[in-house]
Amino acid sequence: MEYRGGVLQPWLEAGAPESEAEPPAIARWVEVLVDCPGAQGLFTYGVPDTLTVAAGDILSVPFGSQQVGAIALRELTALPDELQDQPLKQVEEVVSRGFFPPTYWALLQRVADYYCTPLMSVIRVALPPGLLGRSQRRLRLCPEAMPAEAEAFLSGPAQDILARLRGQKQGNYSWQYLQQKVKGASRGLKDLLQRGWVESYLEPPTLSQPKRQQAVTLIADFEAQELSPRQREVLEVLRRQGGDLWLTELLQLCQASSSVVKALAQKGLVVVQPREVLRSDRGVAVEADQPKELTPAQAEALRAIAPLAGYAQVLLHGVTGSGKTEVYLQAIAPRLAQGQSVLVLVPEIGLTPQLTDRFRARFGGRVCVYHSALSDGERYDTWRQMLSGEPQVVIGTRSAVFAPLPRLGLIILDEEHDSSFKQDQPAPCYHARTVATWRAEGVDCPIILGSATPSLETWLQLRSPQDSRSESAPEPPRYYLSLPERVQSRPLPPIRVIDMRQEFHERNRSIFSRSLQQALQQIQERQQQGILFIHRRGHSTFVSCRSCGHVIECPNCDVSLSYHHTHADATPLLRCHYCNYGCPHPTRCPECSSTYLKNFGSGTQRVVQELAQLFPELRVLRFDSDTTRTKGAHRALLSRFAAGDADLLVGTQMLAKGLDLPQVTLVGIVAADGLLNLADYRASERAFQVLTQVAGRSGRGEDPGRVILQTYTPDHPVITAVANHEFDSFINAELAEREALNYPPYGRLVLLRFSSLDPVAVQQAAEAIAEALDTPDAPYDLLGPAPAPVLRVARRYRWHLLLKLGLQDDVMLPDVTLLRSLCPRHVSVTVDVDPLNL
Ligand code: ADP
Ligand code: ZN
Ligand code: ZN
Repeated sequence: MEYRGGVLQPWLEAGAPESEAEPPAIARWVEVLVDCPGAQGLFTYGVPDTLTVAAGDILSVPFGSQQVGAIALRELTALPDELQDQPLKQVEEVVSRGFFPPTYWALLQRVADYYCTPLMSVIRVALPPGLLGRSQRRLRLCPEAMPAEAEAFLSGPAQDILARLRGQKQGNYSWQYLQQKVKGASRGLKDLLQRGWVESYLEPPTLSQPKRQQAVTLIADFEAQELSPRQREVLEVLRRQGGDLWLTELLQLCQASSSVVKALAQKGLVVVQPREVLRSDRGVAVEADQPKELTPAQAEALRAIAPLAGYAQVLLHGVTGSGKTEVYLQAIAPRLAQGQSVLVLVPEIGLTPQLTDRFRARFGGRVCVYHSALSDGERYDTWRQMLSGEPQVVIGTRSAVFAPLPRLGLIILDEEHDSSFKQDQPAPCYHARTVATWRAEGVDCPIILGSATPSLETWLQLRSPQDSRSESAPEPPRYYLSLPERVQSRPLPPIRVIDMRQEFHERNRSIFSRSLQQALQQIQERQQQGILFIHRRGHSTFVSCRSCGHVIECPNCDVSLSYHHTHADATPLLRCHYCNYGCPHPTRCPECSSTYLKNFGSGTQRVVQELAQLFPELRVLRFDSDTTRTKGAHRALLSRFAAGDADLLVGTQMLAKGLDLPQVTLVGIVAADGLLNLADYRASERAFQVLTQVAGRSGRGEDPGRVILQTYTPDHPVITAVANHEFDSFINAELAEREALNYPPYGRLVLLRFSSLDPVAVQQAAEAIAEALDTPDAPYDLLGPAPAPVLRVARRYRWHLLLKLGLQDDVMLPDVTLLRSLCPRHVSVTVDVDPLNL
């Protein structure tokens, strides 16, 4: 970026350790973040003797010809060498003190250091873009501080400013305006500020255009009215939702047209009027609910959590349907009452509508949702709301771990085992669980990790704490809390494993075993609901020629294309799930021109089509990333299913994540094998988690549930462990395997990912770096370099180099700048610390 203001601070030096022997010196320099439209970066400024600056303050600094807002990140008591001879500009003013807590910046720096990434990349995930650019510096009179006729002593520009401020009704102007109107405004302002007769402040930006939307409010009792059934239904829905809803939501809920509402308005039963919408996702009004009476296990867990005040780690291990959410809710309530805020992290936005509804039902407007799918405007508004310091509950996905909540009293990570807490790319490749733990440590509050299938990392740390861990840092208090049963002693659903080889030998060529077909028949007869889980989205995993065996592949990536077929008349398409390349399904084999092309595998579409043939009456909804792409689609699909609009929900991985649908009595896992056979040391752990979670969607209500699990390898240890609900023995066996090989959680991994359009250059770069890293005293083992499991994606060739380290905290990771300097420009390298996907 263009150099205009202070001196650009190269990030590497940012972490340089300071010598400890020196007495505490006064900060004479400060590293700031400038974040305005067209300018974003870290710069160093001098601090004039008249000012004291602390990390977290908002400053006004000269930048090129402008004055801009900046956030103080770090006070520097010594100037880095490369800045010694540079002319540094000075901070002009402290606009607002303590805007961010100082621990916040320490956290971002820790993330940058640990994940080997520039601080600026961390700031980009953490802060909404243009945070300061939208705020405006303003000045206002402080009349009470001004002695009578004092202005006689003032300079001309100061008098001019004073006169203008007095002439303005509220006694304030923007700094920009005064600079334009008053000659020598800076000098005059300095004078006034020193005397304390004027103060400067940062005004939040006015929302460009407040959004307005039609709202419907129930205003009269309608019991005795003469109404059509449709009208009555709409009013009932409105009343049940608290008497107040957005028009669009009401119509969606009732599947009604706006004419019904218009007629009700004419009768004087409702009013429809435009109302302003705050652009944060506060969602629909939900019926308020009360804390439930806890089961003994829930009560015991809460008793352990409630008194925790400082940093502590808690694992809440509760089987599916054991009521973890209720424990969260009751742990949160007293913290809010004490004026603290709570951060709740969840894996994916697919699961938040249901979860956020439950939180809103309990805490109403104090709940706000923060995730990366929000528009910039929404993110920005939510941020401002969070910074207000009002006690609140923020629910969000991984990046919400950086939500700037002052007075944070508790952090909860729900479904802590979920891999979507880890960012794969772009840098920083952070894990929200790791960062959340640091955050809890920094602000000194407890963190609760909740799951039915805890990750091996968490299990090892919190269930069976090891003494081999680092001895230097004092250990925080750790708690293992267990909810071993479902609420109201509902049984876990029995899991029936079906051997699909047997089905094939007995001439059943359908993708559904006879047991599953029977079960599907039954839910229809009994008017219950079911879920079918498929490992892949799309229609089928690949298309191949029956004559020559040719498999149709993506021209850009080394993967086969998937068959997509949306509805009967649509053109069948082939699509690449890596780069999104698409083309029409060929009618002949591109290799041998045979017309016998066959679709292999079973994606959601294929399953839905086969269901339509076998059970034409069964009403089916597809729930996968194809059908939930648009905003609000998750909520709409789940509401339809919950309302009984369909008998069966067919979907992928997303179904595994925390859905609580009490009517579901059947879960069918169409083929578990795809999950078992991934080439990754975590494959078993992940398969166990996904299958257990999916199975856990069954029988959560009054009616008992069951699970049918189809597989070609019924004797696989994961399958037996899932079928018998054997968590402890499975995880202990898995841990033993990891320990034998020094894999996480007994060792650490760092993955270097190389990629380039040039297949030769990328391999050479990976080899050169491997050689450079292969020193005799290196504290790590090198694995590779090797081509990535899928070598080419979106035309880029990819190579991996894996470093295997011990657990000691002080292992020096390779110097990333050095690595980059060994790479030609057209080869990119990313460092993935603690990678989840190899
Ligand atoms: P988990 O998150 O552990 O899978 P949930 O929190 O979703 O479980 O709880 C499962 C169901 O049990 C939910 O419908 C919830 O409302 C209900 N529930 C939870 N705790 C209680 C309780 N103490 N008494 C009655 N019902 C409860
Ligand atoms: Zn062929
Ligand atoms: Zn592709």
